[in-house]
Amino acid sequence: MSKTYKIAVVNGDGIGAEIVPAGVSVLDAIAKKHGFNIEKQSFPFGAGYYRDHGKFMSDDAIETLKKFDAIYFGAVGLPEIDDTLPARDYTFKVRTELKQYVNYRPVKLFSGLKSPLRTKTEKDIDFVVVRENNEGEFVQSGKTFYADDAHGFATDTSVFTRFGIERIAHYSFQLARKRRKKVTNVTKSNTLINSLAYWDRVIAEVAEQYPDVEFSKMYIDNASASFVLRPEVFDVILTTNLFGDILSDLGGAIMGSLGLGGSGNINPEKDFPSMFEPIHGSAPDIAGKNIANPIGQIWSAAIMLDHLGETEAANDIVAGIEATTAEGNLTVDLGGNASTSDIANRIIKHIEAKK
Ligand code: ATP
Ligand code: MG
Repeated sequence: MSKTYKIAVVNGDGIGAEIVPAGVSVLDAIAKKHGFNIEKQSFPFGAGYYRDHGKFMSDDAIETLKKFDAIYFGAVGLPEIDDTLPARDYTFKVRTELKQYVNYRPVKLFSGLKSPLRTKTEKDIDFVVVRENNEGEFVQSGKTFYADDAHGFATDTSVFTRFGIERIAHYSFQLARKRRKKVTNVTKSNTLINSLAYWDRVIAEVAEQYPDVEFSKMYIDNASASFVLRPEVFDVILTTNLFGDILSDLGGAIMGSLGLGGSGNINPEKDFPSMFEPIHGSAPDIAGKNIANPIGQIWSAAIMLDHLGETEAANDIVAGIEATTAEGNLTVDLGGNASTSDIANRIIKHIEAKK
């Protein structure tokens, strides 16, 4: 009997309603070709849900999502919903409660695309940002004090635990072993002398257990410049929640568009489902026009299948994306005029045609 994967589908807001169905159509095509089944169930969570219900997801959402093999997600956010609301957290809640402590964000220049870094080619841009996804700067522990307008102040506390640092470090070194065996710890311990000095110390200890992997440390300011000037020095970037958030947008930009970046919020032990989503947001400025680039969403489907053990199917999707960009089929953000659904259909054609 062929395998069946249960996938929770969460479009979210904005372009999610266009790019998630595009990604699902690719998933259906790849499942058919590789002889497995995808059983889908949709959930309406997000800012639209908040507008109607006063919360971003139902109270039983986490328990319900736990019953799936994976979550395929678009993006959350609407301009009319304040995104500093504490209840905003669809993404934060799922990532932490399902222990998705790895945010895996590959950066790769597909053939046919021109990086805005005009001297760089495909061989120069091929690395992964591994962002710590459960603690650090995003624990949302802090306060705003308004004594009066002239004397207000605010704090945010970062939390780094040995447990949290060790597990993301081990993941990164093990990933590097499957790639070019190089880990760069991106940090700022020269100014964040408590939290990030501790981060560095624990990572250096873990690094000693991987003598076959080349290990170095780079400060975030230098790393940002290096993304632009010499991206070829990177293989696996191991970094904190905040720095990883910023660097992966920069990674999307050097690929040619934010719309290209795929990602996985991964629970490596697989005790709960992982969640796969593009690196960008809900892009309300271009929603409803069938012009959003679906590649980041479709690449996320490949990352999902790889996580589920369907590596050949995952590779077929990436090959389909690359064949599509190589022939110059591009959405508006990349200077073309293909629609969201044109790109998905083209990728499906390539998948079906490949031997
Ligand atoms: P978030 O806080 O959720 O990350 P954001 O404020 O960073 O959201 P995005 O929604 O990522 O913003 O949009 C940033 C810009 O990138 C917008 O101009 C948007 O149109 C563009 N963009 C994002 N995703 C895509 C896509 N898939 N295709 C084309 N353009 C996109
Ligand atoms: Mg963003």
